[in-house]
Amino acid sequence: MKPKIIVHGGARNLGNKETERIKDIINACEIGYQVLLDKNAVEAVEIAVRHLEASAYLNAGVGSYLQLDGRVRMDASIMKDDLSAGAVIGIEDVEHPISVARRVMDMTQHVILSGPLATDFAHSEGFPRFDPRTRPKIDLWMEIMEEFHQKTTYEQIFHVDRYLTGRFKLGTVGCVAIDNNGGIAAGTSTGGLKLNVPGRVGDSGIIGAGTYCSKFGGVSCTGYGEKILVLSLARQVVNYLQQGKSAKAMDAAEYGIKELNSLDAYGGIICIDKEGNLGYSYNTEILTMHYIE
Ligand code: ASP
Repeated sequence: MKPKIIVHGGARNLGNKETERIKDIINACEIGYQVLLDKNAVEAVEIAVRHLEASAYLNAGVGSYLQLDGRVRMDASIMKDDLSAGAVIGIEDVEHPISVARRVMDMTQHVILSGPLATDFAHSEGFPRFDPRTRPKIDLWMEIMEEFHQKTTYEQIFHVDRYLTGRFKLGTVGCVAIDNNGGIAAGTSTGGLKLNVPGRVGDSGIIGAGTYCSKFGGVSCTGYGEKILVLSLARQVVNYLQQGKSAKAMDAAEYGIKELNSLDAYGGIICIDKEGNLGYSYNTEILTMHYIE
C-alpha cells in the first residue's frame, strides 16, 4: 500500500492570515508524511496534529480561542483501525492535547478523560504545563468582552450568541493517514468555538462524532460541533464506506456533507478508505487542507 496522508485546518470563511495558515498546514502534512514513510499511521497522525496544534493561526493547541470566561479548554481525539481510541475534553494548560489523547489510548483502559482531571492526568504523565493563549486571541476576547462584562453569565451567553450569529468561528485541525501496511488512523484537535460556554462539549473529543476509524476507513470532521455530534458524523461516514460495495472516500465525504446540509449546518470532512483513496468535502467557503499521496 502506498502511504497517504491528509490534514485539515478547519472549514471556514476566507479570512486574513490564509497564507500563514496554509503554510503551517503544508508543513504539518509534510512532517506527518516523513514519519509515515518510516513508521505507522498513528505516529504520523499524532506528529502532524502536534504541528497543527503548534500553529498560532489555527484553533487548536497554541492559538486556541478563549472561552467566555477567558480560559482555553481544548478537546482532542485519536483512533486506530483496530478500534482503539483515546480522547480528552476540556483539557487546560497543555501544549499538545492530541498527545494526551494518545496517552489515554495507549496507557489506560479508558477512551475519554474530561475536565480538570484530564489536565491532572496530563501533568502527572509528565506533559509540561503550558499556557496556549496568544496575545491576538487574548486581545480579541478582551475587545468582545468589553461589550459584555457588566452582564451576568446567562446574559453574556445570549449576547455572545447574537454577536456571533452568521460568523464562522472555527479552525479545528485534523489528520487521517494510511501506512504501507494498510494501517489507518485519524485524529482531531480543537480549541472549540470562539467564546465557547465553559462546560460545552463539541464533537472533536467524541469518538464517532469528530473522529472515527475502523478497518474500512478513517475520518476527521470539522464544523458546527453540535450538529456533527447529533449526526455521529464521523461514524456515519465510515458506515457509508462499510456498507457501499464500491463506496469510495470521496463519495463518503460528500455523503457526510449532505447529512450536515440536511440540518443546515456547516463543516468539512476528510477521510481515507481502506483502498487508500482520499476524500474531502465541505460546505463553507474553504476547507483549509493539504494531502500527499
Ligand atoms: N467542531 C469544532 C467544535 O464544535 C469546531 C470546529 O470544527 O472548528 O468544537
